[in-house]
Amino acid sequence: MRDALLALTDEVWQVSEVMTPLYEGKAKRLYATDDPEILRMEFKDEATAFNAEKKAIFENKGKLNKAITTLIYQMLEEKGVKTHLAGEGDEINLMVRKVEILLVEVIVRNVAAGSFCKRTGVAEGTEFKKPIVEFSYKSDELGDPLINDDYAREMGLASEEECALLKRDALIVNEVLIDFFAKSGLRLIDFKIEFGRLSSGEIVLADEVSPDTCRLWDAKTGEKLDKDRFRQDLGGVMEGYQEVLRRLSDS
Ligand code: UDP
Repeated sequence: MRDALLALTDEVWQVSEVMTPLYEGKAKRLYATDDPEILRMEFKDEATAFNAEKKAIFENKGKLNKAITTLIYQMLEEKGVKTHLAGEGDEINLMVRKVEILLVEVIVRNVAAGSFCKRTGVAEGTEFKKPIVEFSYKSDELGDPLINDDYAREMGLASEEECALLKRDALIVNEVLIDFFAKSGLRLIDFKIEFGRLSSGEIVLADEVSPDTCRLWDAKTGEKLDKDRFRQDLGGVMEGYQEVLRRLSDS
């Protein structure tokens, strides 16, 4: 009996050890796999906004964001953009190549919204002549403050050459995404992407691309179909995400 209990305890311990995430963020968890170069990225149903001051749980958010990120990564790979995608996984888990995430978040804006409007007073919806690329320091403690490439260099976050590469790649991703979403009647207002360094040193697109990280408006009506529905208490948050997935899957 004691042996059986010990064996059971051992088994439970092993299972729980396997299930302990290597890392847990606001919207995702990362787990090790048998392959040291591959991780399992689990999309959570938790949602946060305003640097986690506002929190909620939305049933199916993980599933929807996993499906949307997968579609977008597959499309980007076909267009020659390298991502950390390694395999489709299952409903809420994406298999990704292990990277060291750069602590520089890259934001691209085509139309004024969110913090840009707050910072500048420019009206929401104002279209830019050319996209704006912005860097922020990935730090929850500091609330992801706006930085530039000089900050990134001096803070040791990315070299000058790497900053130039991030900006160039982000603009390529923007061009590809604008077209991709336009085919589904969606207007890409802005988005945030992250990059990671593979063990080979190569920098690839990492993290997620979903309505949590992109502002997407219906091209005809201007209806918001992204996380602003949560930020601004517009209701129908998951209906918006579901609509994005439906349109992308149909196109
Ligand atoms: N964004 C994000 N994570 C962040 C900050 C911004 O995914 O930590 C996305 C956001 O969803 C939007 C774009 O980046 O699509 C620009 O966001 P903004 O700087 O306007 O910030 P917010 O209005 O979210 O404070």
